[in-house]
Formats: sequence, structure tokens, C-alpha cells
Amino acid sequence: MGKSKRAIIIGCGIAGPAAAIFLKRAGCDPFIYEAMPEHDDYAGLFLNVARNGVRILQELGVAERIRREGVEMRIMSFQSGSGKWLGNVGQPDGEPQGYTIKRGVLHRVLREEAERQGIPVKFGKRLVDLRMTGDNVIAYFADGSSVTGDFLVGCDGIHSRLRQLILPNAAQPAYTGLISFGGFAHRAAVPQQPGTQHMIFGKKAFFGYLVKEGGEIYWFGNIEYPGTPTRQELEAIPEAEWRRRISELYQDDPHPVPEIIRQTTSKIGVYPIYDLLAQSAWHSGSAVLIGDAIHATSPNAGQGASLALEDAMVLAKCVRDIDQLPQAFAAFQELRRERVERIVRYSRKIGQRKHATNPVQVFFRDLLLPYFLRAANKQATDWMYDYRIAWQDQVAL
Ligand SMILES: Cc1cc2nc3c(=O)[nH]c(=O)nc-3n(C[C@H](O)[C@H](O)[C@H](O)COP(=O)(O)OP(=O)(O)OC[C@H]3O[C@@H](n4cnc5c(N)ncnc54)[C@H](O)[C@@H]3O)c2cc1C
Repeated sequence: MGKSKRAIIIGCGIAGPAAAIFLKRAGCDPFIYEAMPEHDDYAGLFLNVARNGVRILQELGVAERIRREGVEMRIMSFQSGSGKWLGNVGQPDGEPQGYTIKRGVLHRVLREEAERQGIPVKFGKRLVDLRMTGDNVIAYFADGSSVTGDFLVGCDGIHSRLRQLILPNAAQPAYTGLISFGGFAHRAAVPQQPGTQHMIFGKKAFFGYLVKEGGEIYWFGNIEYPGTPTRQELEAIPEAEWRRRISELYQDDPHPVPEIIRQTTSKIGVYPIYDLLAQSAWHSGSAVLIGDAIHATSPNAGQGASLALEDAMVLAKCVRDIDQLPQAFAAFQELRRERVERIVRYSRKIGQRKHATNPVQVFFRDLLLPYFLRAANKQATDWMYDYRIAWQDQVAL
């Protein structure tokens, strides 16, 4: 056996620690470098990890913690802005559709598992540049330090610096026209329906919520927003102003939507929604990109985190089974591309339904949606959820 390959992982969100754990299992020596000055266990709002992603968490040995700290999701119940029930997606029994978990908790669980396995995680390391020599790759950080490895894995999210450096001609992230916002409410008088997420095509904006055992409510909304806003631009608007705008948006929607907004005690987070089909290779020399860094899907299909986890496992298998890195990276891209691009497009399509606000569009959407929902129940989404990767199976060139 040769010397183990030193893997420099850029980013400690979801793909980063997952890739590090799988690469270690594949015999590599991984190190994680994260731009944030320190870990933020309260980062972001919450997300759904679909059952295909939960399978990877199982393989990583952390699924039990996610089940314990998350909220089981079985059924999505859709309603119109007039309060009419439009239909359900999902099944009350069998394997859950997935789990809803606070983003900060998911980050913490993955990072702690990486650290428990002896993988070093360094914060305050923002990648700014790199240099590839014949034998190795050097990553340069904003604090003036650098590190040398055999290969680099870019897990640095949708605005990836590594992508800009190695694939300058790749397509840029595309703004979907929607922003997402959300928070956590307490003390709102809303009955808990275990396993159910409620989705409401409100009169002016889309709204989703679930009630966790104990009464905490996780909620989010989507609305069209002009221009191409950045996260910083949206954050520059005072929170009180967002609260005012959001209360106004939902004031005429059915109970309990206005009540949930009123009882929101947490900060309201606001995010522009971009997606990305890079239309380029996913790797160059001894660097490869995974997760949102190379294919970001809008949150509508609830698959971005799961795809990042799947990527991490498939990449490690390729590095384990194919000796030459460029060939391993090419095999990884080959194995993953069709699936992730299909999901990015599928999620875009769902998002388009959230754009409808004029009365004619709303009328037709509410009329047709029950048919779409029934179709979604008939195994139409099995290709997305029933994807399986077996660690022991060899990757063939
Ligand atoms: C509002 C919203 C809701 C969403 N909801 C869902 C959902 O319900 N289900 C779902 O599956 N997905 C959802 N997603 C998508 C999901 O968040 C992403 O697909 C997922 O986070 C991708 O993981 P990642 O590790 O590739 O990237 P990220 O989670 O973005 O992690 C990237 C990491 O890299 C770090 N980094 C960035 N630049 C550098 C640098 N130069 N040097 C070092 N480190 C760097 C960042 O600080 C971060 O820690 C949602 C996204 C948004 C915006």
C-alpha cells in the first residue's frame, strides 16, 4: 500500500465534514479548512434532509442523532390561500420522507463526528488562491497562511471561491426570482400533527410550517423579489422592517399563518434563492468540487443537503477505487451529473408554481395542483428518494 493521500477540504458546512469522514474511510488523510471565524451552532434556519440523505447520515453513523434532534417528516399537506385543502404528498407509514433539522445542529453533528474520528477542523481559514504543481496542490488563505496536500476538495458552497479559481468559465449561480425567509415561533396556539408539514399557497406569498413536539414552530416563506439580491443586501434591511413586511404579506391568510408570524420570537432570517448548473467539468488537475460548489438546487425539492451528502460518499469511493486522481474525479462527475442536474431542474419547476400571485394564475394553479400532487404520490419521485449507494461496491472505470 502506498502513502495515504493528504486531502485538503475547503468548507465545513454539510459536504465538507461528510467528504472528510468518507475520505478517511477510503484511506486518505483529510484536513478541513473553514472560512467562518468559529463554528456557529445557530447558523441558518432549518432544512429537510430527505430520506436519500438520511441513508448517507446512517452510513456516517450520525442518523440517530439527527432523528433525535430533528422532526420526522411524513406528509406534506397543501392548502390554498382561501384555506381549501389541495392534497397531501407522502405516506403516514413506512420509512419517513426525511427529517427537518436546524441547520446549525446538522453542522454540529457532522463536524463533531469528523473531529471524533481525529480529522482536524480549522476555522478562520478562507481560501483565496491555490497553486497546483505536478505533485501537489497548495491552498492559500486570507490570513496569509497556506497548506499543501495531494488534492483539494471544494465544499465551499454556491459562491465557491475554488470554482472561480479552477473553472473560471463555469456558469454563474442563477437567481430564481424568489427569496426565502423564516424563523421559529413559540406560544402560538397551533395543534401539533406529528409527521406533517403544512404548505400554504397564501394570497400573496408561499408559507410552510411544522410544529415540533413541545410546541416550537419552524416556519418559512417565499416571495418574488426584484433584481439579483445578495444575502448582504437583504440583511442590510432592518429586521423590524422585514417583520412589518412579512406580517403584511400574510395578514389575510388562513389561520394559523398570521398567528405564527405574530408569535415569532427568533430572528427572521432572509435568503435570496439561487441555483447553479455549472455547465462545465467538475474538476481540474488535483482539485474537485462537490455539493453546492458545483451544482446548487433551490430548496423547493428539499434535496440540496442530501445531494451534497451523496456526492461526499461517491467521491470517496472513486478516490478509493481509482488510483489516478483525474480519472477518479472524472468517474465521480460521470456517476453524479445526470442525477443532480435532473433535481436542479425539477426543483426549479416547483419554484415556478410559487411565483403565481395574479388571480388568473392562482385560479389555474389551485385547480391543477391536486392533480400534480396525486401524480407526485404515484412513485413519480421514487427516483429521487430511493437512490442508494453501497460503500462496499467497487467503482468501475
Ligand atoms: C433558504 C434555504 C433553504 C434550504 N432548505 C433546504 C432543505 O430544506 N433541504 C435541503 O436539502 N437543502 C436545502 N437548502 C440547500 C442546502 O442548504 C445546500 O444544498 C447545502 O447547504 C449544501 O451544502 P454544502 O456543504 O455544499 O454547502 P454549504 O452548506 O453552503 O457550506 C459551505 C461552507 O463553506 C464555507 N466557505 C465558503 N467559502 C469558503 C472559503 N473561501 N474558504 C473556506 N470555507 C468557505 C462556508 O462558510 C460554509 O461553511 C436550502 C438552502 C437555502 C438557501
